[in-house]
Parts: sequence; C-alpha cells; structure tokens
Amino acid sequence: MSQKSELLFNESKKYLPGGVNSPVRAFKPYPFFVDHGKGSCLYDVDGNKYIDYCLGYGPLVLGHVNKKIVEDITTQLSCGTTFGVPSEKEIQLAKMVVDRVPCADMVRFTNSGTEATMSAIRLARAATNSKKIIKFIGSYHGAHDAVLVKSGSGAVGLPDSPGVPSEATENTILVPFNDKQAIEDIIKEYSGDIACIIVEPIMGNIGCIAPKDDYLSFLRKITSDNGIILIFDEVITGFRIASGGAQEYYGVTPDLVTFGKIVGGGFPIGAFAGKKEFMNMIAPEGNVYQAGTFSGNPISITGGISTLTQLGADFYSSMHDKGEYLRTGIKEVLSDLSIDYTVVGVESMFQVYFTSNDVYNYDDAQTCDVKAFDKYFHNLLDNGVFIAPSQFECGFISRSHNISDLDKTIESIKSSLI
Ligand SMILES: *Cc1c(COP(=O)(O)O)cnc(C)c1O
Repeated sequence: MSQKSELLFNESKKYLPGGVNSPVRAFKPYPFFVDHGKGSCLYDVDGNKYIDYCLGYGPLVLGHVNKKIVEDITTQLSCGTTFGVPSEKEIQLAKMVVDRVPCADMVRFTNSGTEATMSAIRLARAATNSKKIIKFIGSYHGAHDAVLVKSGSGAVGLPDSPGVPSEATENTILVPFNDKQAIEDIIKEYSGDIACIIVEPIMGNIGCIAPKDDYLSFLRKITSDNGIILIFDEVITGFRIASGGAQEYYGVTPDLVTFGKIVGGGFPIGAFAGKKEFMNMIAPEGNVYQAGTFSGNPISITGGISTLTQLGADFYSSMHDKGEYLRTGIKEVLSDLSIDYTVVGVESMFQVYFTSNDVYNYDDAQTCDVKAFDKYFHNLLDNGVFIAPSQFECGFISRSHNISDLDKTIESIKSSLI
C-alpha cells in the first residue's frame, strides 16, 4: 500500500525539484513519504513500517526519537535556538571531541559536512601555501565545487556537474583508493604544490570500502615526508567506528579531521578539528576566513552532547557484535543462492556488492550489477526493510536495532533474492 506516498510525491514534484531536497532520496517509481520514526523503524504515511538502515544517511546512531536527545533538546528549545554570541555548551561539545579524537586539539563547528571539508581544504591550502588537493575517485566530501569530481581517472578531473567551472576543479587531482603507486607518482609529478590529501578512511559513499593493509599509515608517512596535510573526512566514520573515529580504529593520526552527521545527534552540523598550529590559523585567531550564522547553534550542539554522552564502551562493543551478526547472517543466506555478491562492512557499516570481485576502489565497485541491486532494494522495501536506494551508499546499524530486527532483516534479504 503506497497510495498517499505516490500522491504526495506527485504533489511534491510541483514545488520541489524532483520532489525532494537532496537527489538520492528520489528513488523510483516514487519514495515513501515518512510519517514518523521510532527506534530502529520508519513508519510511512500509508501505515507501512520499515526497519531503517539508512538512518538519515548516518547521523542516527541511537535510532529515531532517542529519549535523552528529545529531553535535552526540549529543555534547550525553551532557552533559545540561536544566539549570535557564544554559549558554554559549545565548549562542552568541543571538549568531548578533543577528548575522544586523537588529532583534535581544537574544533570549529559548521552547519554541514560540506562546509567542514570546504573549510578544512582552505585551511590546508593556507597552511602549505599550495593549491593542489588530492582526492580519491569515488569519495564524497560534500557538494562544494572543488570536490565535485569523482568519475574518470587521470591526473585532473572534470567537474561532475554543469555549473561548476573547470577552473574550480583544475587543482583537484584524482587517484584510485588503495593504490600506493598512484599516490607516489602524483606526489612526484606535482612536488611542492600539493596542499592536502583528503580521504574517507573507510569509503562510505561508494558502498563501503575499507583501507587495505597499511594503506592509511602509508598515506600518513608520505604526506609527512612531503609537507602535505592529511585530512581524514570522518563525516561518516566519526563516533561510529570507534569513539575516536577511524583514526583511533586504525591507529593513524591525520593533521585535520572533518565531522558531520553523528556529531549533531540528528540536527544539522559539521565540524573540523586538528592540531593547534593549524586550527589557530582560523579567523579570528588567524586570518583564514571561515564563518556561519548558525555555526555552533545550541540545538545542534545539544544534539551532539546528548548523543556523545550515550556512546560508551558498551555501545561500541554491541555495535561491533551487531555488525558481525548481520554480515554473517547475510553471507549465510547468500551462499545458498547462485548470485554474484560480496558482503562488505566495518563495525556498524555494511553493504552487499552485487559482484564476485573484491572491491578495493571505484573501478572495482563499477563491476557491480546495479540492476540486481535495484531489485534487491525494492524487494527489501516490500519486505519492510529500508536501505539507501543505491548500490553506492552504505547501510548503518543503530543502537535501537535489536537481534530480532537483524533476524527479520536476514530473512527479508533471503526472500528478496530468491
Ligand atoms: C555526508 C558526507 C559529507 C557531507 O556532509 P553534509 O552534511 O551532507 O554536507 C561529507 N563527507 C562525507 C564522507 C559524507 O559522508
């Protein structure tokens, strides 16, 4: 039953381009319109219930309508929603980030992950007095011009979108993930003019691709040796993979890190953080300009404090167990069927690639049968399970997902693929 969703989508398309406010939401033939969320589930306007593994594309690590977040935000609402002057809670959340994240001495909060990566790249360029940035093919760092290049390989990428002048991306150099030689070659070629390497330590916007062997420590060493700033984009992995993010999990400390998603507890946010010597270059302490009307607003900050407070060691060990349980269950189901697949994931991130190849980079991911994924997605939806509608997104588990949700999901995956 999806009558109301279809009607709403048709109505929505008259007023919102494509009927949505962010492109990936507009899956075919029409997306379900949500009525409300609760715990691990979403409920649509037609009365259907879905176990939710999209979780707002990552932020809702505690599930929908977390009791403590609701209480804390309700209290904050009656004290004001934006001030234009500093408030104590900003220090509190900054301290929580600094306490948890190895590379973070200081933090600047923004309103989105996009702003965070844009600002971190600006800071890296200022700190090195260099123009070029290295980005991995298939990585996503938000929707600003310099990073809207993901397809095609070669030294310099053309923009993915009309409206982005080629000048805006001519300093963005693309390399395949998990490929050491490619980085060595580029650094030789552009020696002295590279400001930073920006990397998702686990690629989460092309499915889910973990770094191979010592790849991240290789990046750490080659950047240090060449005066290049290493930026980890932990907008997804921050506070999800481990308390200190992927940098703690893999034991590799970058110079700068970007956050978003979880650090706002379900409210709009971004942040970048790093060593003092770099962060003190940001205005007004330094002269690298960065600003935002709503930056550090008390609602998002309270959402972040309320969330991080609830993420203790028990949380991470239970997320670890749930991730293993789900991936093992999916593998068992799939091994009985005659289809090409690879189950991937780290901790509470997961995906099924419809290919029998190992997936280490963008090109490997392109070998997937996207039609098979599409069928899987729609069958899962009919079976009451919502995953992001693309082979090249990642699934997330929250604290609210219990074993019975995971069992039901594994069952649904089985019936979706038969
Ligand atoms: C979501 C995401 C961003 C962009 O964050 P927004 O808040 O959507 O602007 C940047 N980097 C990564 C790795 C992301 O997953």
